[in-house]
Amino acid sequence: MAKLHFYYAVMGGGKTTSLLQTEYNYSHQGFKPLIVKPKLDDREGLQDGWGPIQSRILSGEHKALYVDHIDVAELRKIDFNILLVDEVQFFKANDIVALSDIVDKFDIPVICYGLKTACNGELFEGTKKLLAIADDIKEMKHICKCGAKANMHLRYINGKLDKSLNPIAVEKGETTYESVCRKCWKKAMEENSR
Ligand SMILES: [Zn+2]
Repeated sequence: MAKLHFYYAVMGGGKTTSLLQTEYNYSHQGFKPLIVKPKLDDREGLQDGWGPIQSRILSGEHKALYVDHIDVAELRKIDFNILLVDEVQFFKANDIVALSDIVDKFDIPVICYGLKTACNGELFEGTKKLLAIADDIKEMKHICKCGAKANMHLRYINGKLDKSLNPIAVEKGETTYESVCRKCWKKAMEENSR
C-alpha cells in the first residue's frame, strides 16, 4: 500500500538534497521517479514546464516539472511510479488532496518535502493540510547557531531583519533567511523592535 509521506525541515535543513538522494535511490532500483515543484513566478528557462532543480550539496543535472497546481489527469500523462514533491508548503490545500488521490487511486507513493512554518511562525497552507492527512510525517532536524534545534526562520532584506510577520517577503531587495530556535527568534524580534 502506497503512502503519502511528508518530510519537513527549516531552510537549509537538507530537504532538496534528501529529495535528490531519494530520486537517485529509486532510479537506481529501476523505478521511475517524477519531481514536481510549485511554479511560484515566471521562471526563465522552463521548457514545457520542465526546469532544473538544485541542492546546495549535490551536483549534477536534475529536472523537475514546475506546475501551478496539482492536476492528477495531467500528471498521469507522464510515466512515473514515484512522485517527489519539493517546496510542498506553497501548494494549496486542494492540491494536497490531489496528491493524496495519486496515492489512493493509483497506489503510487508520494513523498513531499517542505517547510513547516513561515517567518511569522504560522503553518503554510500546504503544510497544514499535510499534517492533517499524511500517512507518514517526519521532521528533518537542523541546528540553530546556539546549538538548540532550529524550528523557526528569520528573514533579512538587504541584510536588515524583516519583522513584518508577512508570510512571504513583501519589501523588495535581496532576501536571505536564517534558521533559528524559538528562543533566538524571539530575542532577535524583540531586540529589533526597540
Ligand atoms: Zn538558538
